[in-house]
Amino acid sequence: MSANFVALTYLFAAVLFILTLKGLSSPATSRRGNQFGMIGMAIAVLTTLTLTHNMAYILIAIAVGGTIGAIIAQRIQMTAMPELVAAMHSLVGLAAVLVAMSAFNDPVAYGIALPGEILHSSNRIELFIGTFVGAVTFTGSIIAFLKLSGKMSGKPIRFSGQHWVNLGLGIVMVGFGVVFFLSPSWTPFLIMTAIALLLGVLLIVPIGGADMPVVISMLNSYSGWAAAGIGFTLNNNMLIIAGSLVGSSGAILSYIMCKAMNRAFLSVILGGFGGGEGAAADSGDGKQKTYRSGSADDAAFLMGNASSVIIVPGYGLAVARAQHAIKEMSNALTEKGVHVRYAIHPVAGRMPGHMNVLLAEAEVPYDQVVEMDEINNEFADTDVVLVIGANDVVNPAAKNDKSSPIYGMPILEAHKARTILVVKRSMATGYAGLDNDLFYLDKTMMVFGDAKKVVEDIIKSLA
Ligand code: NDP
Repeated sequence: MSANFVALTYLFAAVLFILTLKGLSSPATSRRGNQFGMIGMAIAVLTTLTLTHNMAYILIAIAVGGTIGAIIAQRIQMTAMPELVAAMHSLVGLAAVLVAMSAFNDPVAYGIALPGEILHSSNRIELFIGTFVGAVTFTGSIIAFLKLSGKMSGKPIRFSGQHWVNLGLGIVMVGFGVVFFLSPSWTPFLIMTAIALLLGVLLIVPIGGADMPVVISMLNSYSGWAAAGIGFTLNNNMLIIAGSLVGSSGAILSYIMCKAMNRAFLSVILGGFGGGEGAAADSGDGKQKTYRSGSADDAAFLMGNASSVIIVPGYGLAVARAQHAIKEMSNALTEKGVHVRYAIHPVAGRMPGHMNVLLAEAEVPYDQVVEMDEINNEFADTDVVLVIGANDVVNPAAKNDKSSPIYGMPILEAHKARTILVVKRSMATGYAGLDNDLFYLDKTMMVFGDAKKVVEDIIKSLA
């Protein structure tokens, strides 16, 4: 295939990727956005196949990787998506390191040096940056995977002088990068790779609980830059463009998430720098707190007689797969003349946009789904708030308790409503491991049980 034709098809695929991002910016157009992405990726892969010399190896690798990917995608639960994404990011990071290693091992095969020639200085810088970003992404994503999947405690792991250790390691790593630049050899290359692998671990272990969403999108961004780095090594424009799109959109998403959680962007990307101490501390002050509980029938009675109801969905709704039931319940309430809306917190659930995706799956009309900034002024005028499987995103400690690790994080102000119903299985804490004073208010009624079962009972009672 001629170089011009390759450039043209890559350009076409790049335009489709940009349309993908545009489509993904709203739930209403996201399906089309995904379709653009799939077509763009198919074009990019087919074009790249025409450039390969060892087609058989590539096809075998695609068949093996594609089969594994398809099986995992079929089996994965919606609630386990964040850890899957983290695992995928780690593979991108590992690929960047391996490509850099093999390019350094045989630069002639990669077309970045002539036989007997020493690597060009710009290639040495590319190899260093690609390896460093890839290695940090690799081990950082593994830690994120272990934390999100519960295989490792989600609590922040901190030790004194941590940031100085990170800074020191960073300087030593750059030092070995300079040695590699001046006289490329395996020793400085391997030492700087080992330090970058260690840095990936050290940057992610101090991040805990409620800050994990930012970590996911930040590692997403790193994996994009790592892919762009591979693109430079392989002289492949498509990879540079696609990697840069992922890198920059991930960075913008991280910034938006930091704003949503009132966290300093820099402090998160530097590994929890300046973050609150012990995100998993309990707020218990020793006093016995009391709460009220009621049945699904009580909840149905309260909502059926209200004029306005706001539903606050959270992670528990996803676990119980109660999205279809909740849609049915809100239809029943609407038929009774109740004004029903859904309030969405940007970090509700376990990944960005989790609640929007769930509600879209149940075909909840988009105009009933309202983002946090828009709906927060309306809680005070609302008769009943139904908090279902949500916890941290409605915890008033974020507003009232300066000692709380989530202090400053914006919340859905459910505590301002006239009556609050909370559906969950027990008084257990949410992801951040914090007690929630909302549950102990006089105007709050707890309805214990699995979210789907409770909502089905409410529907029966409403009928
Ligand atoms: P939380 O984790 O704070 O609370 C979820 C609640 O759901 C729990 O308290 C649990 O209580 C309840 N629950 C679990 N299973 C069920 C079930 N089957 N039926 C009924 N209730 C159930 O979730 P939120 O959505 O409020 O907050 C999200 C948290 O996760 C935030 O801290 C956020 O930072 C973090 N996070 C968000 C990510 C994102 O990108 N959005 C990614 C990673 C973390 P019980 O056990 O008593 O039932």
